[in-house]
Order: sequence, then C-alpha cells, then structure tokens
Amino acid sequence: MKDFKRIVIKVGSSTLTHADGKLDVQQIKKIVKEISILTDQGYECIFVSSGAIAAGMGILNVHEKPNEIDKRQVLAAVGQVELIQLYSQLFFAFDHPIAQLLLTKDDFSNRTRYLNARNTCRLLLEKKIIPIINENDSVSINEIKLGDNDSLSAFVAALVDADLIVILTDIDGLYDSDPRENPNAKRYDKITEITDEIKHIAGTTGSKFGTGGMATKILAAEMAMSNGTDLIIANGDDPHDISRALRGENIGTHFVASEPNFNARKYWLRYATTLSGNLHIDEGAYQAIQKGKSLLPVGITSIDGDFEIGSVVGILFQNEKVGVGIVNYNNQEIEKILGQQTSKIKKILGYQYSDVVVHSDNLVKV
Ligand code: GLU
Repeated sequence: MKDFKRIVIKVGSSTLTHADGKLDVQQIKKIVKEISILTDQGYECIFVSSGAIAAGMGILNVHEKPNEIDKRQVLAAVGQVELIQLYSQLFFAFDHPIAQLLLTKDDFSNRTRYLNARNTCRLLLEKKIIPIINENDSVSINEIKLGDNDSLSAFVAALVDADLIVILTDIDGLYDSDPRENPNAKRYDKITEITDEIKHIAGTTGSKFGTGGMATKILAAEMAMSNGTDLIIANGDDPHDISRALRGENIGTHFVASEPNFNARKYWLRYATTLSGNLHIDEGAYQAIQKGKSLLPVGITSIDGDFEIGSVVGILFQNEKVGVGIVNYNNQEIEKILGQQTSKIKKILGYQYSDVVVHSDNLVKV
C-alpha cells in the first residue's frame, strides 16, 4: 500500500440514509468516528458528503426524488442545513471543528475561484479543520451542474492535491456482474487501467437516493488516476474499512494510479472548465498539436463564440473536439489574425501579446 496522507472521503446518499430517505444517524456517527480517528492519526481528510436532497426528502415527507430542478433545489436547501448541523454536533463530540464548502461547476471552471477554493481548503487542512463539501445544489441548474458527487470528489481531489479518494457506497466494490443478481459475481480487487470493458461492466445502475451508480464512480476513478490519485470503492456499512484498506487489507476495489498524465493546470483544463467558444483548425495545426506544439494563428480557419483573453476554448478539427486551451487573444483579435503568419500579428493588430494563440503549456489534447 502506498503512503497516503491527504484523503478525500466521499459518502453517497444510499449510505447516509435509511430506505425511507431519513438520515441514518447511527451510520453517520460511524462515519464521523472513522474520519475523526483518521484525522487524529495525522491523515488530512476532506469529506465529500451527499445526502442533502435525501435529507430534504425526509424532512418534507417527499418519497420519490423529483425530476424538476426547482423541487430538487428546495430539497437540497432544506436538507443541507440538517446535514451540516448533524455533522457539526457529531464532529464536535470528537473535538474536530468542521467547515462547509458548497461548490458549483463554476468554482472549478473559473481559474480565480478555483484558486480561491484551493487556498481555503489548504488553510483549513493546515488548521486541522475538516472541510465538508457538497455541490451547491440549490443554486446549480442542469447545464452547469457537476451532477453527482463521485465527479465532485475527483474535482475536489485535484483541487487539494489529494493522494487518495475513498468512495463509500452500498456495494463492496466493482464486480464483473451484478452481485445482487448473480451470486457468482466476482469483485475486482485492483485495477490499474480503466479499459472499455471495465466501463462497460460498470453499466449505468443507480440507486433510489443517490445520483451516480457505478458508471460515475469509474469516471471519477479515471479522472483521479490521470492525475496520479488512487481511488478505492468500498462498502459504507462499516466505515472502519477505510483504516483497514489503509493498512493494506483487501477491501473494495482499489484503482491504482501510476504517474500523473497531466500537470495540475492541464488536469483543470481537461476536466473542470466550461468552454467560452471554439477555434477550428486545419490539418497542419492538428498535426502540430499532436506533437505537443502551440497553436499559431496560421492554423486557425474559423472561430465561434465571444470570449476574452484568458478564456478557455475548445479546439476543433473537422468539427471534432481535439483539444482545450487558454487563448492569448480575444475573439475579435483572432478573427483578424486567423490564417496569418505570426510575423503579421503586430502589423494587423498594432500590438502583439504573444506569438501564439494558445501556448502548448495551456493546451491539452482530448
Ligand atoms: N449533491 C447531492 C445531494 O447532496 C448528491 C449528489 C449525488 O448523489 O451524487 O443530495
């Protein structure tokens, strides 16, 4: 087992609630105790907790999770209060202060907000305060939602440079078939690469209260691994399994990361950003990008969108997205210089911020 220090622990709604949707206080106590033990042992824990919508359903006596976004927003707003109040009391009993961060996709897309959230988390950890994070469901609408807390946990892990994510759920790990239907189903202990087969096996099953199912957990594992972060999916019935897994016991399914594929900025670009527009490029530029080169004005054929310098845009070749990058010029400037040699930029615009439209350091292939 690697030497983990900073751990994002994500617990799903199905683990935090009874079958009728009410918060399972006994279960929550066990989770709080485990996180407290780990914190006392010197691990830095960041707790990503679902359950706001489920708790809201319990309080307002709603039995089916509604599809309408406004109804979910109300449930989340009501439920989050109950959830954090409970955590505050329970962690207090273990002498651990907590902090609440409710994040939206925007907080990851916008580099300034991202860096602020990162800084806050770092300071909280430094002061031994346990950050408890959820998506800010009551202000997020579908288009800008991360949507499930498995993805949120992977974003958070990148935000805080965690070495490990533990996802506690209602199943022992990833199986080769559904163990609830097939008694011979086999659990994967270790996965070092997410193949198409693994994605296929993960399917699209969900539970009544949670959002994700296995598919979003595998996606989270893929994101985490590309950033050099391990991920363990384990059953939340006994949260002390986290300590056992850290001691090297065979618990759940362990996705083992090798070296990161991206540096932090590229990881952020690849996964966290919302695109402000697109640059369409020609074959020559496409080949250059494949070799890790920057994008020059000469290779751009057309653009769409209104965007400022520093915006994140998609890079398209033959209408397929082949990259994401940060632009050094706004859309009006690029309109004027596209198709032109770099040596002409100054003559056309009267100034030249950069030789390239997207520098290779700010460009990631997709
Ligand atoms: N953020 C949602 C909640 O607190 C949970 C999303 C999920 O189930 O992954 O209810």
